[in-house]
Amino acid sequence: MSEKYCIGADIGGTTIKLAVISTEGKIYKKWEIHTDTSEHGKNITRDINIAINDTLKELNIHKSSILGIGAGAPGFVDTKTGYINEAINIGWKHFDFGIELKELTGLPVWVDNDANLAALGENWLGAGRGVENLIAVTLGTGVGGGIIANGDILNGANGTAAEIGHMTMKTAGGAPCNCGRSGCLETETSATAIVRKAKEALGHHSSSQLADLSSITAKDVFEAANNGDETAAKVLDEVIDTLGLALANLTVTINPDKIVLGGGVSKAGNQLLDPLRAAYKKYALPRAAEACTFELAELGNDAGVIGGASLVNQYH
Ligand SMILES: [Zn+2]
Repeated sequence: MSEKYCIGADIGGTTIKLAVISTEGKIYKKWEIHTDTSEHGKNITRDINIAINDTLKELNIHKSSILGIGAGAPGFVDTKTGYINEAINIGWKHFDFGIELKELTGLPVWVDNDANLAALGENWLGAGRGVENLIAVTLGTGVGGGIIANGDILNGANGTAAEIGHMTMKTAGGAPCNCGRSGCLETETSATAIVRKAKEALGHHSSSQLADLSSITAKDVFEAANNGDETAAKVLDEVIDTLGLALANLTVTINPDKIVLGGGVSKAGNQLLDPLRAAYKKYALPRAAEACTFELAELGNDAGVIGGASLVNQYH
């Protein structure tokens, strides 16, 4: 029997990452192309098709050996049809991406949002390997989430399942969120939130090490806390407590075996994980918490393309 392959495509605001992966999980090629966001991203589907055709030729793989394309984009995606309601960074609005990509490539296409693909990727070849119930959290400029329950990715009634970044964590006085509401998990625990909270705290404690910096990043806040800076430590305590609460509450909905943390903020490693485990334990139902372990994501920027290929591998 000849080998079969899956293609993963992770469409971001600046680059489109692509990969050709065998059904056994061997990565044959991983590459990226520029995202042409001009004219509301109307050339993107064409560019993906060209990139795939060129690569298959180069790898000497015939299209009949390709099981399909699993593509992800940041935004609200109707996973049943591949219809993109809106992907702001890319310029797509009410765009029939799945159908267009299918027609152009002649291949079956599955579409999901980027955070769900990251969860699928970690579930196939990363830190959540082989786990039936998984929550994957991406802590970056925003907060993304993907949930695998009983072995399947959760999409829900209209593709908004696992949009954990938009759980309301603060009912009063929360910062405004991109979703139009305020006090979301994203506005309380993302890298952006850490920086905002550090700046707010500096207003009251100018003795902080952070006061000497011309601009502050989330990494600076972790470093300052590590050096004994109380202002930074207090900011992180609050952020991690909120994240622990959110994850504890999610725990009783899917009873995860594992929670995997990725994204820029997760680079803090144990400085994030240790207090997060403690906060989580404080709020979680003990029996549910007993079953769950925390791990750092392993696949980094490759999680999306691997997840796209996994989507094909699982559902073709
Ligand atoms: Zn929100």
